[in-house]
Amino acid sequence: MASLAAKGISKVFEDGFQALTDIDLVVEPGEFVTLLGPSGCGKTTLLKTLAGFYDATTGRIEIGGTDVTAAPPEKRDTAMCFQSYALFPHLTVAENIDFGPRQAGVPKAERRARLESLLRQVDLEAHRDKLPNRLSGGQQQRVALARALAMRPAVVLFDEPLSNLDAKLREQVRREIRALQKEIGFTAIYVTHDQSEALAMSDRVVVMQGGRIDQVGRPEEIYARPETAFVADFIGAANLVPFEDLGGGRVKTPLGELRAAVPPAGNASFICWRPEDVELVEAGAASENVIRGVVRDRAYQGAHTELHVATGDADLGLQRLHVAGAAPAEGAEVAFRLGADQIRFVRSALA
Ligand code: ATP
Repeated sequence: MASLAAKGISKVFEDGFQALTDIDLVVEPGEFVTLLGPSGCGKTTLLKTLAGFYDATTGRIEIGGTDVTAAPPEKRDTAMCFQSYALFPHLTVAENIDFGPRQAGVPKAERRARLESLLRQVDLEAHRDKLPNRLSGGQQQRVALARALAMRPAVVLFDEPLSNLDAKLREQVRREIRALQKEIGFTAIYVTHDQSEALAMSDRVVVMQGGRIDQVGRPEEIYARPETAFVADFIGAANLVPFEDLGGGRVKTPLGELRAAVPPAGNASFICWRPEDVELVEAGAASENVIRGVVRDRAYQGAHTELHVATGDADLGLQRLHVAGAAPAEGAEVAFRLGADQIRFVRSALA
């Protein structure tokens, strides 16, 4: 296990396109960090730069405290695990896993010990002599993982490894990856565009947008205290409403005057609240932070019903509410209360 530090990384491709700008990130030994963001935000470029497949245009990369900025991929003590598995089709499961150590000249006894323990750890002992095309997608993914781990890398870099798997299998394999990571002990950097995967797997999540890091934090922090409108909207669902600061935690918004538990930060431009943060109240209720509207449509989701509510200010669009239990019908007039401590303030874009 080793730490990884990226300091001031930028990447400009040969065609002049700047894919990464000012990336600063420190990953602790044994930490599981995901890079999360929409398609094209630079996740894969950052991963490949950390792995050494791309040269950083500026900045410095350290692994285990050693400067590896100019080192080729095989000298970085990292391994990559891809979505396409990249298994050798003509080699058996065991030969695929043993390939790296064999090439590297690891002594035979040591190779055999590694192979046996990896086959057991990824639960493929019964399939050791099969060719990859005889395996299911989940099993192939486990071979790819074992092959990456066979070189005992300090840092494993995962590029959307589960995107070829169906939803149920993804969940299973992601639990297996986490369990293996704890058992074997390696530092993991994991690219995904799937919010729930990032929240479920990570010690910390790095949210990227437009080649920059928007926010880094534990999953609970990212969800409960998004710093930007982009993070709020990309992770979970958010209602975003512009405001004017009236002082003392009071704000004027198109939804009416509201009181927040904390005053807005100086650079905030929206209030943000989650669909589940509201409580439906009696239509006549006249208390603080009560907002009125009309249900435009509703979608039953099992654990809750999602309502889209028009609140009078057409420019604002519809607000999303999640209601557990019996939900009002389309066309119903509703009143809901927003808790003062549920109102967050977010900035509109990158600092
Ligand atoms: P996805 O989730 O779709 O894989 P990503 O966040 O991993 O997206 P990257 O593959 O890192 O995104 O690409 C970031 C940006 O850099 C994109 O706009 C892409 O078109 C651009 N890009 C990637 N590779 C190159 C290249 N070799 N030359 C020029 N531009 C590139």
